[in-house]
Amino acid sequence: MARLEEKVQDLYDEVVARNPGEAEFHQAVREVFDSLGPVLAAHPHYADAGIIERLCEPERQIIFRVPWVDDAGRVRINRGFRVEFNSALGPFKGGLRFHPSVYLGVVKFLGFEQIFKNALTGLPIGGGKGGADFDPKGRSDGEVMRFCQSFMTELYRHIGEYTDVPAGDIGVGGREIGYLFGQYKRITNRYESGVLTGKGLTWGGSQVRPEATGYGVVFFVAEMLAARGEDLEGRRIVVSGSGNVAQYAIEKVHQLGGRVVACSDSGGYVVDEAGIDLELLREVKNVRRARIADYARTRGVTAHFVAGRSIWEVPTDIAMPCATQNELDATDAESLIGNGCRVVAEGANMPATPEAIKAFSKAGVMFAPGKAANAGGVATSALEMQQNASRDSWSFEYTERRLSEIMSGIHQTCVRTADEYGVPGDYVLGANIAGFTHVADAMLALGVI
Ligand code: GLU
Repeated sequence: MARLEEKVQDLYDEVVARNPGEAEFHQAVREVFDSLGPVLAAHPHYADAGIIERLCEPERQIIFRVPWVDDAGRVRINRGFRVEFNSALGPFKGGLRFHPSVYLGVVKFLGFEQIFKNALTGLPIGGGKGGADFDPKGRSDGEVMRFCQSFMTELYRHIGEYTDVPAGDIGVGGREIGYLFGQYKRITNRYESGVLTGKGLTWGGSQVRPEATGYGVVFFVAEMLAARGEDLEGRRIVVSGSGNVAQYAIEKVHQLGGRVVACSDSGGYVVDEAGIDLELLREVKNVRRARIADYARTRGVTAHFVAGRSIWEVPTDIAMPCATQNELDATDAESLIGNGCRVVAEGANMPATPEAIKAFSKAGVMFAPGKAANAGGVATSALEMQQNASRDSWSFEYTERRLSEIMSGIHQTCVRTADEYGVPGDYVLGANIAGFTHVADAMLALGVI
């Protein structure tokens, strides 16, 4: 075992040396590597076939200039990315993120996570991710459209329904997917529905895709509770963020009888003891495109806004970080634990730091990693691809049932794998090992490519 740990450490050092300055990517790799000891001990042939080295090196990385003209007539330049990480299980699949923090290290961490997440869904999709350091905040509709058209003018040559299928992520929703799809269609002269997911319902989109990530996290939490004979009824819950994932997580919690008492944005958080009023939250965030502070101002007595502090100081039974990476650190974890939090499920990608995860594990808090808990989004994207391929569209009820079955399958896979490897209840190990072996077996079958 000591030799194995040394080998994993050597592999990790090599990844850091080959990819300097990409802290988020290193963190995501470390987190998976820390789960691999038991699997390599049981199956040494994975290491012999160079599977780990190949998994850490994207099949293809594309970086491109995105020039566009703002409303004042000024030429702007952004940097676009698409990292096609692994296609052993199917076409590269993963979202596009438009946010000023985007650089190669962020896209690679997201793409790396996506490989294992997509494998866990059991659907035929490989892993990839992309985006740009473009900040859509404060930009007009016309500016966003011109940016998306320029972005696609380069990206179109790299994607396709059998090659690489992007979707949304932070900063990329239905509006952006529309402009991107329109430009792809115009350049290629093909109505190739399966080239992008997250499309609108009238032009090839799927029911439940907008809801899927948030609903899926809540389905996963319901499974974790059910495994212990409990449910969401009457539970107090804190959800960070207030975008697409957070909004639909709140909606599903309320449908299942729980109460979300706080949510946030980068300016601070609101506490609403009566339960977050989703209609008002949507009006503030989606229609007014305003700050969460506005929610408290409009809502009045039941709610108050706290500027510039961590939402994780709010006492809760269940925490769902649905904002962004590394938003929940060791101090936050200690305050959640101190206030009696018993379940944490990641709606965002890698929102909890490694130290926070360690603290949860030590305190016996049930912790679901994003690659399992938030896989409902990409799983429903794969359902959208199925509908596009068969030129069909399914009902809301049927699609939601499929999503809920997929989340329950992922939960079972994590639990079974953790049991098999002698770490019952460890969802991190269960998810990493199950995702890894699924991809690794396909890579072995396909030979050294
Ligand atoms: N961006 C989402 C994720 O992190 C969804 C990707 C997709 O639907 O392709 O999984």
